[in-house]
Amino acid sequence: MAQSTALITGASSGIGAEFARQLGREMDLVLVARRADRLETLKAEIEASGGRRCRVIAKDLSDPAAAAEIHAETEAQGLTIDWLVNNAGFGTNGPFATLPLEHEIEEIRLNVSALVALTRLYLPAMLARGHGRVVNLGSVGSWVPTPYMATYAATKAFILSFTEAVATEVAGRGVHVLALCPGATRTEFQAVAGVEENVPDFTYMSAQAVVAQAIAASRRGRRTLVPGWMNKLLIASTRFTPRFVLARVAGSMFAPKR
Ligand code: NAP
Repeated sequence: MAQSTALITGASSGIGAEFARQLGREMDLVLVARRADRLETLKAEIEASGGRRCRVIAKDLSDPAAAAEIHAETEAQGLTIDWLVNNAGFGTNGPFATLPLEHEIEEIRLNVSALVALTRLYLPAMLARGHGRVVNLGSVGSWVPTPYMATYAATKAFILSFTEAVATEVAGRGVHVLALCPGATRTEFQAVAGVEENVPDFTYMSAQAVVAQAIAASRRGRRTLVPGWMNKLLIASTRFTPRFVLARVAGSMFAPKR
């Protein structure tokens, strides 16, 4: 049987780097992000600590051609991608009417289009083999319309709906598709989005805990995971709260502080 390989996007930092560390103990890796130097450092760390072989593909996934290029490269190398972790993503913060349009579109191309394209490109071979796992990064924001992060939360709502639908389509065929929906997690995400001051300290989880729970949930065949009891409570409360109230609460949390 071909060597198992995990392809992880956004592996240069945060949750993606942690997926690489944890999955790299038992399978080969393809690490994707823009910062090649970070990916090479992580590759060296994983291989030196007894992990399996890592390959690096430096790519800007907001480029519409990127997903097909990555797929062509892994095909040319004869790799069997058993885990696809669609993790790369970023958020933007501010009144929507004032945010630079090109950056909002880039956010949709990365968070949504690249994730859909990679899922579409790798899923058929997984189904043909009768095994495989896809993990798509949603967020607790998948359930909550979020003023001042309107585009970001909408991309995550798309990901949750898309992932649960595809998971249902492929059920019983040996391929498991999981929407991983974390709350605040200690990574570079908040600094990139400019929301460090909006998120209370006590709500954070570590990337290690989020990823360990996600890997276990995928192995149990779960379709959705909200890690952490506080996040689970938050999502449970959205069932009984009108959406305009949810939006007001989220808006008061993410109103720009700087
Ligand atoms: P992070 O530390 O900022 O990592 C983001 C990753 O995405 C980096 O590796 C970055 O690499 C990559 N990336 C950004 N733009 C890219 C592009 N154009 N092409 C390719 N790669 C790109 O944030 P994180 O928290 O680990 O985020 C991972 C995922 O978790 C995201 O989808 C995020 O929405 C989701 N999430 C995070 C939180 C949280 O609180 N941290 C909560 C819920 C959901 P390069 O800059 O090197 O390209």
